[in-house]
Amino acid sequence: MSDKGTLYVVSAPSGAGKTSLVKALLERDSRVLVSVSHTTRDMRPGEVDGKDYNFVDMDHFNQMIGEGAFLEHADVFTNKYGTSQVWVEEQLAQGMDVILEIDWQGAQQVRRLMPECLSVFILPPSQEELRRRLTGRGTDSQDVIDHRMSQAVSEMSHYGEYDYMIINDDFDTALNELVAVFLSRRLGQNRQSQKHQELLQGLLSA
Ligand code: GDP
Ligand code: ADP
Ligand code: 5GP
Repeated sequence: MSDKGTLYVVSAPSGAGKTSLVKALLERDSRVLVSVSHTTRDMRPGEVDGKDYNFVDMDHFNQMIGEGAFLEHADVFTNKYGTSQVWVEEQLAQGMDVILEIDWQGAQQVRRLMPECLSVFILPPSQEELRRRLTGRGTDSQDVIDHRMSQAVSEMSHYGEYDYMIINDDFDTALNELVAVFLSRRLGQNRQSQKHQELLQGLLSA
């Protein structure tokens, strides 16, 4: 048996707080990495190419589709987003846990390819608060915010396809719940018995 890492999928309507929660989780947990997606959307102020996303044009994105470079890809809002297959597989093979911050369409593709993945859906406490967060983030124009709000109900309607659901009302509570999801997978029977083989042999020896 190998000790491959676990693949986590995190989805949420835009503005629910998934990027903030995942960022805070990474600061607490050195065994997990986040996949940097490719996207055709414009870079927001403050975003860094190669760190927040790999920003590419439509031709480059389509070429990558042709090469089979994506584990999954989807049209979200008016842009294309995709996850690099090679990078994810390399990290998992090295035993790292990997988080994909992707939409519900990508989550469905990943579940089909890797049914052992664990998926988490993050919801805002209300539609009003979701709009407040999108506005307060200060990164998107009013048109973009209106479009994202109009898509939010459709995105949220997929919550039932996920293994776990977290309401991001109080940030620290939601973060503790996300940490607990990761911990619960690591404490599972398979992983624990692989990790503690010697201990178990000792404990069970006559
Ligand atoms: P934000 O979620 O408001 O920060 O806005 P983004 O423009 O960063 O992301 C918009 C949507 O695209 C979100 O629903 C993301 O989950 C989704 N997304 C980002 N990267 C990927 C990806 O690689 N694949 C898929 N399928 N969706 C992605
Ligand atoms: P997403 O990645 O889901 O689009 P972000 O992580 O960018 O969302 O969060 C959207 C905005 O909401 C950010 O300005 C963030 O600081 C804020 N935010 C996130 N979680 C909370 C929370 N629990 N309470 C208040 N504001 C929050
Ligand atoms: P980003 O969207 O860039 O990931 O997050 C923006 C900033 O807001 C980050 O520094 C993040 O930690 C912070 N943040 C997000 N939600 C909350 C919250 O509920 N309370 C506080 N104090 N900070 C938050």
